[in-house]
Amino acid sequence: MTIIDGKATAATIKAEIKAEVEAMVARGERRPHLAAVLVGHDGGSETYVKNKVLACEACGFQSTLLRYESDITEQQLLDVVAQLNADATVDGFIVQLPLPSHIDEQKVTEAIDPRKDVDGFHPVNVGRLAIGLPCYISATPKGILTLLQRYNIETRGKKVVILGRSNIVGKPMAQLMMQKQYGDATVTVLHSHSQKLQEECRQADILIAAIGRPAFVTADMVKPGAVVIDVGITRVPDASRKSGFRLQGDVDYEAVAPLCSAITPVPGGVGPMTICMLMQNTLQAARQR
Ligand code: NAP
Repeated sequence: MTIIDGKATAATIKAEIKAEVEAMVARGERRPHLAAVLVGHDGGSETYVKNKVLACEACGFQSTLLRYESDITEQQLLDVVAQLNADATVDGFIVQLPLPSHIDEQKVTEAIDPRKDVDGFHPVNVGRLAIGLPCYISATPKGILTLLQRYNIETRGKKVVILGRSNIVGKPMAQLMMQKQYGDATVTVLHSHSQKLQEECRQADILIAAIGRPAFVTADMVKPGAVVIDVGITRVPDASRKSGFRLQGDVDYEAVAPLCSAITPVPGGVGPMTICMLMQNTLQAARQR
């Protein structure tokens, strides 16, 4: 059984990106520049954005963090987006979600210039992915595809089962896995109203769990020899930890891992790849500038 090491793979890819950036700089080109907009003080968002800024440093990128209080109006935020769209020194930017409830997230996402939408959430990028055109692919699905490729896991013609149909993970993952030029697999997407869910999971050559239900995938749901990708990250209480919690994936790792040909751990699997793919998308934006 292979443990798919997302942390090590992400470190390798970041080093590759940095080497490419230094070559760009040596040719007299500007460093890629990622801007991040953070509204309010949500603990999770603060951590994600901090890690994105650190990843920019590791890749040799310029980064800018724009912080606003949670009472910023929707129009003020749309004005910030318009300024970033127009700023020729910014190659790509993200608006960290979630946003406060008085702001329409979809409206903000759609205000981002698709050419700078390195999160790949704009409908133009989502649509281009759906019909196989060049686009920014959202970071988590792209990270999973990259892990499978780097571990030489064959996807062509395989049965891929995806648990979850969110716009940021399940749906784009299904698109990627079914596209001829990416996964070229046969894809089933399961959700909270799927029938015979366990049976469907048991058919999977590659099972991708993205539902946010700790340890939902048990050993009896996994075909021996399957590849299991665990996207879920949930904080569960753990009195043995100083923090009082630990991160738990959607897969019952201890029980499932011995059955698999390969599996991603939580933490250290899909998570580190997500930020790394954001860096790759920013490099792509800089190349296209
Ligand atoms: P989400 O928007 O909450 O969507 C969850 C999906 O799972 C929905 O489609 C839902 O079905 C389905 N679902 C929930 N309970 C289910 C059940 N009991 N049986 C079958 N399907 C069920 O979640 P998300 O944003 O995709 O995130 C999923 C997990 O991945 C979370 O733990 C999140 O923290 C994690 N995540 C990790 C990364 C990373 O970088 N590693 C990135 C993004 C998300 P319905 O559509 O029917 O409601």
